[in-house]
Amino acid sequence: MKLALLGGTPVRSRPFSPWPDYDAEEESALLGVLHCRQWGGYHPAVKELERAFAEMHEVPYAVSCVNGTVALEVALRAAGVGPGDEVIVPPFTFVASATSILLCQGSPVFADIEPATLNLSPRAAEAAVTPRTRAIVVVHFGGAPAKMDAFRELAQRRNLKIIEDAAHAHGARWKGKSVGAWGDVGTFSFQSFKLITAGEGGMIVTRSDEIADFAWSYCNQGRRRDGGWFEHVRLGTNYRMTGFQAAVLQAQLRKLPHQTQIRTANLAYFRERMREFPGLTLSPEDPSAVNHPHYLVPLRYHAEHLAGVPRDRALEALGAEGIPVKPGYPYPLYRNPLFRRESGLLTRHPGWHAAQDYENLNLPEAERACRDALWLNHEVFLGDERDVDDVLRAIEKLHRQASSLLTAASAATRGPK
Ligand SMILES: *Cc1c(COP(=O)(O)O)cnc(C)c1O
Repeated sequence: MKLALLGGTPVRSRPFSPWPDYDAEEESALLGVLHCRQWGGYHPAVKELERAFAEMHEVPYAVSCVNGTVALEVALRAAGVGPGDEVIVPPFTFVASATSILLCQGSPVFADIEPATLNLSPRAAEAAVTPRTRAIVVVHFGGAPAKMDAFRELAQRRNLKIIEDAAHAHGARWKGKSVGAWGDVGTFSFQSFKLITAGEGGMIVTRSDEIADFAWSYCNQGRRRDGGWFEHVRLGTNYRMTGFQAAVLQAQLRKLPHQTQIRTANLAYFRERMREFPGLTLSPEDPSAVNHPHYLVPLRYHAEHLAGVPRDRALEALGAEGIPVKPGYPYPLYRNPLFRRESGLLTRHPGWHAAQDYENLNLPEAERACRDALWLNHEVFLGDERDVDDVLRAIEKLHRQASSLLTAASAATRGPK
């Protein structure tokens, strides 16, 4: 059958599993908060959610806040990051991993990623350490745990703090320990695409009394936990999660293990079958990872096995077949206009210094990943095997007929005679 992009019938016209997912549990949780008239951040659901989150990560403290970006900012502040400090961060991530550093007047220093996991490379991070380095932000890209033992060892040796950005990695464990609980502080996002969601929301987990106290106080107008309502011991702000969010998140948290199981089973099947299709390869399996939530399923594109068809043309073809494949990040973070001289970033804000020449930076693995990686979102793997079969059928069609895309493209460039 002809490719849908060239006028054939698409493999699939139904959508994949809807996201966010909810049922009667979220509905009654919301009504419970509504009826009790305590809608704000002091609703008991907020404390209960924090307790459940701390238990799940086997840490004494979890502090909720309004979103994952703020969670990172507060975590960095709590870890002592301030004006003049350098913080190492990968460039293949969402912008918040780096802008949170700028928000506390630290200077992001980008270090390259590992091709196998798309996570920050411990070796590249080490090479980026200077006397001004205060911390490392480690991102667990797509839910794949980063090499936390190596980062821990580096942090100890060079006296650095570790902040884990676990916005993609709810529930993941690595070498027997929860992701988020390896560093000095871990952060989570509950934004609407994420694996547990209330539309917006964030969480900080830590073992440290001081980090937890600072985080709670900063998010609560600089109050002390046991202090008076109008007693403010430090500069703080209002970053409180509402009762509505917490109640929905409690229900979402209960659903996560089952959803992770479904995705894991579907991924195992997908991985097995994908060996037939050399044009798209999956990251190798990590035997140390447990409960990998598969927030994003990254694939690398190999044009040489697909008649030389450019990646974006293949993406278009898969999209036309009804498969929502995403092109991923268009360029590494440092290529954003924000990091160019014209944005005034470094001149307008005295705490920041040009720790790196962003305009001439070229981290080869991150650059390559932006060119040849693509990904499938978690909800594609939240259905049954027939959903996965549709993805496979589209990929098979692409492999069989890749060259027809080339002829069609060149015909189009030639234009009408
Ligand atoms: C989503 C995300 C964040 C930010 O979370 P928000 O809740 O949207 O503010 C931070 N880091 C990464 C890697 C993310 O994907």
